Amino acid sequence: MAGERILLIEDEARIAQFIERGLIYEGYRVSVARDGQTGLSIARDNPPDLVILDWMLPGLDGLEVCKRLRAASDVPILMLTAKDDIKDRVTGLDAGADDYLVKPFSVDELMARVRALFRRSTPTSRPEILRFNDLTLDTGTHRAYRGERAIDLTAKEYELLELFMRNPRQVLTRDVIFDRVWGYDFGGESNIIEVYVRYLRQKTEAEGEPRLIHTVRGVGYVLREEE
Ligand code: CA
Repeated sequence: MAGERILLIEDEARIAQFIERGLIYEGYRVSVARDGQTGLSIARDNPPDLVILDWMLPGLDGLEVCKRLRAASDVPILMLTAKDDIKDRVTGLDAGADDYLVKPFSVDELMARVRALFRRSTPTSRPEILRFNDLTLDTGTHRAYRGERAIDLTAKEYELLELFMRNPRQVLTRDVIFDRVWGYDFGGESNIIEVYVRYLRQKTEAEGEPRLIHTVRGVGYVLREEE
């Protein structure tokens, strides 16, 4: 796991240094940008394996940087924010962030999130083609197909869909989904799973196809044919 390159975009020197030290200690290679424009240039010239992106940046803010990064690649993006508010989280997720960390955080917390993002985004085995009904998922390219229609997925959307595809017709509880996709307990009443299920439905049902990801009220979700 060591040696992956992480791009850190953070304007506050003290926080940037604290994070950079922690990452280097864990064996990661780190590039630091102090503003969004510089971060985007670095990402373009030397694509990182993961981006840690502060929300509040001078000039281009973190959300805009996130959108631009996402438009160009599927790199996992961990956003740092002082805004511990569900609505803001959803805004960030809509912009393409894969995960969130609310300031102030401990270095252990940060490392756990970074490891979880890497664990989920690194293919560990030979590519497979998973199929369910007319839905296909290529674990090599991370691309999904509904029938012939290709669907682009963000890193987190892919992980969630892969979890469903590997456990068809089984009800997955919210706890299991949190643990398997986010790798830690999100705590409290986060609606992050609902948000991602909504994204997956929008993408897999974009042309009016029958629903495959169903809500099991009060429990979780299940991938199955429509009844
Ligand atoms: Ca900042």
